Amino acid sequence: MSPTGGTLAERLGRVHERIERAGGDPARVRLVAVTKQVPAERVAEAVALGCVDLAESYAQEMVEKVAAVEALVGEDEVRSLRWHFIGALQRNKVRLVAPDVALWQSVDRLSVAAEIARRAPGASVLVQVNVSGADTQGGCRPAQVGAVVEGARDLGLEVRGLMCIGARGDDEAVRAGFRLLRELADRHELPERSMGMSGDLELAVAEGATLVRVGTALFGPRRVTTGMGK
Ligand SMILES: *Cc1c(COP(=O)(O)O)cnc(C)c1O
Repeated sequence: MSPTGGTLAERLGRVHERIERAGGDPARVRLVAVTKQVPAERVAEAVALGCVDLAESYAQEMVEKVAAVEALVGEDEVRSLRWHFIGALQRNKVRLVAPDVALWQSVDRLSVAAEIARRAPGASVLVQVNVSGADTQGGCRPAQVGAVVEGARDLGLEVRGLMCIGARGDDEAVRAGFRLLRELADRHELPERSMGMSGDLELAVAEGATLVRVGTALFGPRRVTTGMGK
């Protein structure tokens, strides 16, 4: 059976197994279900199966998805949900999603932190770090982490940890990136490390992930986007 075959419940079970087999203590590693491009009905199914951490990448899609999912699930479930924003952040999109976001995972510069502080004072954030040096990866450079963390704190934001997208390449290169993120988080005494996706979550868990962001392994392949939601 393909890794994305079976029912949603089966796929969710397999993701939890992968986390545990990689040494992840379920009490330490939280699964964040990445729901971009996933219809609200499917997301509501995931919620019914116990997924409470949900992540979106595009502001407009998030606003619509949150409303649609909330209309489908019960009031208690609505209260239990935590929506994460994981996409590239533009200042003009912050206002749109500010009422919905529980954790901003992709803060990579102070102009964005300032806008979040203005629209959602005291919000919880992660600082996204480019651990591979590749231009295609979002995030600040490792050498900038201290400045962004301190600056965000000065703005009154609650900096909970760091986030990265895994490097491309062989396992050793991917691991090295995750290890760098963990070291940076330790150095700045930050508890949360958001790293690992469908393809590399084992490596991330082994390197100390506390949040893994999984889309494809739960919901199946996405369409190829051409700048959707920008
Ligand atoms: C889409 C996305 C994910 C999920 O990726 P999968 O490979 O589908 O698990 C995780 N993190 C970020 C930042 C994403 O944009």
